[in-house]
Parts: sequence; structure tokens; C-alpha cells
Amino acid sequence: MVEGPHWIEVRGLVLPRPVGGHPALDFVNTRSGWGEPAPAIPDGEPDPREFLRSYDHVAVFAEHAGLLDAASVAALRRRAATRPRDAEDLLAAARELRSRLRAVLLDPRDQRAVRALSRLVQPALAQLHLVPGDQPRWDVGGGLDRPLSAIAWTAAQAVTGADLASVHTCPGHDCGWLFLDPRGRRRWCSMRSCGNRAKVAAHAERQRA
Ligand SMILES: [Zn+2]
Repeated sequence: MVEGPHWIEVRGLVLPRPVGGHPALDFVNTRSGWGEPAPAIPDGEPDPREFLRSYDHVAVFAEHAGLLDAASVAALRRRAATRPRDAEDLLAAARELRSRLRAVLLDPRDQRAVRALSRLVQPALAQLHLVPGDQPRWDVGGGLDRPLSAIAWTAAQAVTGADLASVHTCPGHDCGWLFLDPRGRRRWCSMRSCGNRAKVAAHAERQRA
């Protein structure tokens, strides 16, 4: 696995480093720079703040977050390659789920945001079924929408089960990643990326002064 301060490479795809403390927060962190002005992006270049660039990214995210097994994800990616339009629609749906989820994580009292998230999560919940085993586990349907359903199910669990009062937003430039910080001691998403950048900037500031 190759990696950078902000990202890791999984199955040949670049994904954000998981720093959120919950897969649902890490999913929100597949985009950075929320609310900041868009940078100038040369024509044809992808938006560097967007990690969720294809259906495959959604599927591999779900695998890396432990929501789906590797064999299923490989099969889904093969199937998605034969149905590009469906894959494109599911990517758009994943991005919408992501922004709705972020809104609720940041303001769980926002009724409109909660209703919108609920509407997006409901189809996934309808597909939930228990799989028998020593420890039965929940699984979602078998269609191309499986990664999205698995993520929606995790999102549903996060907004009811995680300590939302401890959700913090990284103040790093072009970051805005969310992470759980129950002890209230963490300022940055990661000391390797935003924390380090701030340290370097503060040092340069002192040198100037
Ligand atoms: Zn950050």
C-alpha cells in the first residue's frame, strides 16, 4: 500500500486516510475543502478535493472500511464495468448521501437535514437481512447498489450511536474533515497532514518575526 500524509492507496485507488474514528465520518471525509472556494482546476483535471471519483472508489471504500468483503467488491467492480450508466448514477447517489450525512453529523437537530438523510437511508434498510453464523451479522442486498447500502446502514448507525457532541471539524486549509474527539484534545484531522502543515506555517511565521 502506497500512502501520503492525507491519503492511502487501496487496490490501486487513492482514498482518504481513515482518521474519523467511525466509517461514516471517514465516508464524509472522501471530500475535503467543504465550504471553501473551489480552487482553479485545469480543464480535464479531477478536483483534488474529491476522492469519490468513480463507482469503484465507493466500492473499495466500503471494502477498506470493513463493510464489504474483498471478493464481493471485486465481483461488483466487474459488474459495474459492464453497466457504466448505473455505476455513474450510484456514484452521484453516494455523493448525495455523503453531503446529507455530513449535515446531520454537524447539526443533528436540523430537521430538514435529518429528513433528507432518512429518505436516502430507507431503501438500504429495506434490504437489510441477517446472515446466520456463530455471530449473525447484518448484510445488505446483492445488487450494484450494495456498497451504497452498506455505507447508508453505517451512516444510520453513526447518527444514532456515535457521540455526535464529539464530532469535530479539522480547521486545516482545504480540509474540513470530521473526526470524533471525545476528550476534546485534538485540533487537527492528523498531525501528519494538517497538524504538520500548521506547525511548518507557525515556524515560518516565527522566522519572519
Ligand atoms: Zn485536516
